[in-house]
Amino acid sequence: MKLSLGLTSLLPILCTAIVHDNDQQAITGQQHAEQYHSNTKLSDVIAASPLLCLHRAICEIESVTDDEFAVGELLVSILEAHNFTVKTQSVPPPNSNNSTKGRFNVYAYPDVSKYSSLGASSIEGEHVTTKPKVLLSSHIDTVPPHIPYSLSLPKPESKSSRKDILISGRGTVDDKACVAVQLQTALDLLSSGGVSPSDVALLFVVGEEKRGDGMRAFSDSKLYKATNSGYKAILFGEPTEGKLAAGHKGIEMLTLKARGKAAHSGYPWLGRSANSMILPALTVLDALGDIPEAEGGLPRSDKYGKSTVNVGYMQGGVAGNVVPEYATADITFRLAGGTVSEVREIVTHAVRKVDPEGLLELEFSQGYGPVPLDADVTGFDTITVNYGTDVPNIEVKEGVKRYLYGPGSILVAHGKDEGLTVGDMEEALAGYKRLVKHALEL
Ligand SMILES: [Zn+2]
Repeated sequence: MKLSLGLTSLLPILCTAIVHDNDQQAITGQQHAEQYHSNTKLSDVIAASPLLCLHRAICEIESVTDDEFAVGELLVSILEAHNFTVKTQSVPPPNSNNSTKGRFNVYAYPDVSKYSSLGASSIEGEHVTTKPKVLLSSHIDTVPPHIPYSLSLPKPESKSSRKDILISGRGTVDDKACVAVQLQTALDLLSSGGVSPSDVALLFVVGEEKRGDGMRAFSDSKLYKATNSGYKAILFGEPTEGKLAAGHKGIEMLTLKARGKAAHSGYPWLGRSANSMILPALTVLDALGDIPEAEGGLPRSDKYGKSTVNVGYMQGGVAGNVVPEYATADITFRLAGGTVSEVREIVTHAVRKVDPEGLLELEFSQGYGPVPLDADVTGFDTITVNYGTDVPNIEVKEGVKRYLYGPGSILVAHGKDEGLTVGDMEEALAGYKRLVKHALEL
């Protein structure tokens, strides 16, 4: 038996037409290979697909980091309408005041008693549990600024098919594509009886783009500790171009500070320029990824290539005619190898070579080394990625597989042209279903 649970109550809000899973597959299959026709509005294509409707609904809500309340509320209502039990976890932003609405993580699992009516035979006689085997997780915050959702045909109409329709806007790739695909994966597998409702849970976290505070709060929570004993795998959603990530680089951040002495610029010998103190160190650090390891450079590896450096922020002095008293810079290192403590040692050594008096202050963040991931699923191309994720922010027991997978490219994420195609979304839906079944050994 197939039912579209809760669709009647919610989809009219998200879609202009109510479409059941079977219908969606029919439309998808029928139109996939066909040329796109001008008499079909782009928005009608979205409206005909629960997956694309869901994606549009969450992308239309602005959710720059620390302002995730509204998109969290929408997800709660969608999940409850689809017979999920939802637990929210408040994650107040640092320096929050009561005037802002509180942001929260969303953790949800199927209400087994309601899904059992679908004939998922594997739960018959089974003790109702809230200890899922597979967790699907992605983040609901985005980088600024919010860019409105839009649809376009990138190629001339004569050469376009339905799957070429481009969906653009902030978060369409990173990471709301994964939020929508993971949620739809769960709904489709549950409604078809493809998985037992007690096997899967969803986790949508805040704060990934800035501090990872959402995932860390989940990892530290009683809820996680009480429910994680059955995990076989966690599926993390980030843009991987539909490939399975075999690992990602590590990261370490440094704030460098110089304190000099202010003076009139006409008499610079009476002061000490903080800018002059910090610049040689920044020049050295800027090149540290290109220097061979044997000569004091950052670690390299066959898997990830070179470590890279970004001198991302500098501030020094107050005016052109004043010898600067303070200077500071923020530098990010993307690590291709080694440990964080090894990298700190290399960086400190490089700075002290041009600062033998030890006047510069070095403040390191709590970074992490390269993160290996599982990629043992046949039928997927693999990739390594240079960006950080929430993967190291959650403590995982020995033996639990960690997969990183999602539609769209990181190369457009965070930019003004962020976007992906209908085909990307639908391929990822199929990919996630295969990953869940693989993790459950079905
Ligand atoms: Zn992301």
